[in-house]
Amino acid sequence: MNHRATELLGSVHLRQTEPRLAILRTLLKTDTLLTQEQIAEQIGPDAPNKTTIYRTLTQLLDKNLVHQAYLDDRTSHFELAHHCGERQCHPHFTCVHCKQTHCLTGISTQLVELPKGFSVQRQQIHIDGVCPNCQTMNKTKEIERV
Ligand SMILES: [Zn+2]
Ligand SMILES: [Zn+2]
Repeated sequence: MNHRATELLGSVHLRQTEPRLAILRTLLKTDTLLTQEQIAEQIGPDAPNKTTIYRTLTQLLDKNLVHQAYLDDRTSHFELAHHCGERQCHPHFTCVHCKQTHCLTGISTQLVELPKGFSVQRQQIHIDGVCPNCQTMNKTKEIERV
């Protein structure tokens, strides 16, 4: 994990600083999106302060190592950009029951065709629905009722 974080910083010629490494390591460990607060929580007691985390995330976003995903709430969610193409992010799926967001990195979507004069920077798809876990739970409840 440590090695990978170092490599990522090297690939965009960023100096290795403790906050950058800590944030990248945290994002490397997870397969879902994290808010700034969740990143701090996962780093633990040694986490850099809010301002530093924010500033570091901005630098990582600038260098395209990290992507920001826009979900329905106003909180920013961050993840490593390595799952995504340059212009296209994998779809995100938010479960309406458990509110968990899943990265659907395994499926590919087509870029929409835009009207003339519009150019795409990045396409993001956000799907609402019921995740497999919650579907199983619903079924179990139905059986209990019968
Ligand atoms: Zn769910
Ligand atoms: Zn994702």
